[in-house]
Amino acid sequence: MISLQGVNVVFGKAVSAVHAVKDASLHVAGGQSYGLVGESGSGKSTVLRAIAGLCPVSSGTISIDGTVVGPKRAKSQLRRMQMVFQDPFGSLHPRHTVNEILEEPLRIHGFGDVEDRITRMLAQVGLDTRFRFRYPHQISGGQRQRVAIARSLILEPEILLLDEPTSALDVSIQAEILNLLVELRETSGLTYLMVSHDLSVVGHMCDRISVMNKGKIVEEISDRQLFDGNFAEDYTRQLWVASKGYDADAIRRFRDFA
Ligand code: ADP
Ligand code: MG
Repeated sequence: MISLQGVNVVFGKAVSAVHAVKDASLHVAGGQSYGLVGESGSGKSTVLRAIAGLCPVSSGTISIDGTVVGPKRAKSQLRRMQMVFQDPFGSLHPRHTVNEILEEPLRIHGFGDVEDRITRMLAQVGLDTRFRFRYPHQISGGQRQRVAIARSLILEPEILLLDEPTSALDVSIQAEILNLLVELRETSGLTYLMVSHDLSVVGHMCDRISVMNKGKIVEEISDRQLFDGNFAEDYTRQLWVASKGYDADAIRRFRDFA
């Protein structure tokens, strides 16, 4: 579904040039949940932005569902791929109600049955209808991220690009949002490409994971390797130790105490 072949992204020119992504290749099958991990500044967000057509690619090819895509995307291509960002406060318009936030993409893409879609989408992300006419500052961080997820899914995309979708949330809320994302993927057959600096988060969510360091993909690992701590690269092992072992079981066991 998503394929990168020798992708390079360079920002700026000459002495001030930043080579943010170096010769990156990766392949994500349809319906798969694929992870991208690495330290801050390793180029993870840039890879996602390149896939979404939000930053220029210097060389290499990106294809979506077998079609090579460039910086200009047709409306129909844009609809198929949506992005969820780390900070839901920053990514939601502060003076738009939840209803307006969800309505906007539907209008832009000419969808009918707006009312129905909004009601269904709110239910799918576990938001009561009483949140519908609130503003982002009138709901909690976890609820805001639910709204951001609802907005990205309301156009029924096939691919969700998730850039540290839970890093700005409290640990208990993180687990709730991760479990919601797992559930949504299972019910709708979405393809996920999820960025995180937290190995336990991607271990919980993803079956294949690329590890990035300084713009390069250093190795691809499985969730099993993550469980065993069995890696080819010392960098990966260090990242693994730094995220204090492996706590996906704790996330899985998370319960909602009513
Ligand atoms: P990560 O998401 O892994 O923390 P990023 O992809 O955001 O890393 O950044 C990778 C590198 O590219 C960093 O050195 C960052 O400073 C640089 N970078 C990212 N975006 C830009 C930009 N628009 N202009 C110049 N440099 C950038
Ligand atoms: Mg980032």
